[in-house]
Amino acid sequence: MPSSDSISQPRQATPEFTDMVPYKSINEECGVFGILDRSSAGLGHTLYFGLYALQHRGQESCGMAVFDNHQLRLHKEMGLVNQVFNEHVLDSLTGQVGIGHTRYSTTGASNLGNAQPVVVRTPFGALTLAHNGNLINTDSLREFLESKGYLGHGNSDSHLMALYINYLLNQGRSLKDAVKEAMDACEGAFSVVIATGDTLIAARDRHGLRPFCMGKTKNGALVFASETCALDIVGATYERDIMPGEILIAELDDYYTGLHLEGQGRIESFFMEGPKKENLCVFELVYFARPDSIIHGHSVYNYRMNLGRRLAQISADTEADIVIPVPDSGNVAAVGYSRESGIPYVEGLIKNRYVGRTFISPTHELREKGIQLKLNPLKDVLQGKRAIVVDDSIVRGNTSRNLVKMLKDCGVKEVHFRISSAKVTHPCFYGIDMSNKKELIANQMEDTEAIRKYLGVDSLVYLSVEDMVSVAGYDAPCTACFSGQYPAGTPDDFAATVPGVSV
Ligand code: SF4
Repeated sequence: MPSSDSISQPRQATPEFTDMVPYKSINEECGVFGILDRSSAGLGHTLYFGLYALQHRGQESCGMAVFDNHQLRLHKEMGLVNQVFNEHVLDSLTGQVGIGHTRYSTTGASNLGNAQPVVVRTPFGALTLAHNGNLINTDSLREFLESKGYLGHGNSDSHLMALYINYLLNQGRSLKDAVKEAMDACEGAFSVVIATGDTLIAARDRHGLRPFCMGKTKNGALVFASETCALDIVGATYERDIMPGEILIAELDDYYTGLHLEGQGRIESFFMEGPKKENLCVFELVYFARPDSIIHGHSVYNYRMNLGRRLAQISADTEADIVIPVPDSGNVAAVGYSRESGIPYVEGLIKNRYVGRTFISPTHELREKGIQLKLNPLKDVLQGKRAIVVDDSIVRGNTSRNLVKMLKDCGVKEVHFRISSAKVTHPCFYGIDMSNKKELIANQMEDTEAIRKYLGVDSLVYLSVEDMVSVAGYDAPCTACFSGQYPAGTPDDFAATVPGVSV
């Protein structure tokens, strides 16, 4: 069973990497959805479809919280959206304001206690919060809240955000001021939706690390979602992305007064303190977001297509008979490669659609099982062929190595591996599970030739970070896991700070 520890190549002399212990935190990649809708009798059903479209962002637990005339109704469980909710449960989730969450976590944190939305009891009633991203100053937030006697059940960074808001409300702040002050104090990645009895709030971190958008349904209901594919499924029209550092608040009566008088629901927009810059995670574009989502006004599908074209341009001297994707994440880039190179695109690997993404399974054992169960080669198509095999990334290398062996075993003559991203060399502190540098093959083997030999492929080409950024079409996406440049800093930068003073 190959793992990072079984890689036979000597490790590069990079002591600052090899000495590093895995970052201990609740790294998560999640989907969030929020809705304010006075006219809908079936708020739970709308939330269900929104979460269903965001299932790819988290498959361990999910939940929703709705307020019906200020009365909180909450349902969350471990499992997929269609396992956790049924007609009976959804029928009971009526209301006017609601938020939902799909969650993925790393080892140790996959339990119902950390499922979201989180709930805190404030002096003004219940407040619920759902969070996508990962905070990097959790230690100082936790210490601060502990010193004020505010730690309770739940240990996630999302709980800390909700508790911080509650602490500030208890100090006499208005809801708006409490949310702003709490968000000012949070460092790292967060796209959050917050609901109270009559108010829906969205907030995005100052670097805009995780995607977050706003839309409206035909009847004027306000929707916030991690990706536009969740707007589409509930019949909402995309209005715009939520800006880095922006907080949006919509109060039920006020929103609808505006809607009736001016045709525009009244939403208050204001910003957190400190510098803001758009540093959206480039990995969202490469891999994580759904290809039918629009981010920054650009289609994720087109981005991946252009990555594939770029790969073909820099591999122009490679002769091959077919281009095959590693489904599903390599599909679009493989089409781009084929169009640019003129080499026919074929489906050479059939995916079992009922196996989750191996990349985000919570334990090593589950990941290994996932690899074996996931793909089956089409021998008739592949035998005797020189194949360009397109994948989105190589993280640990074990999946790719098993895949290459499978292709060679079924008679593929040559495997030319083409990766539509750069080498993943550094961990992500902003919410995607690749937290241990020692697990990253490109961190352990800086040389492409060593990785090629380890994988057993005839040739191996990655894109460069510059390629990814130029194709993205905006200035400064986060590329930290490829470049080591962390736009929002790392946990070490905030280890000894007091919340709120760094902004
Ligand atoms: S480190 Fe990588 S995965 Fe994490 S936010 Fe940056 S680009 Fe995305």
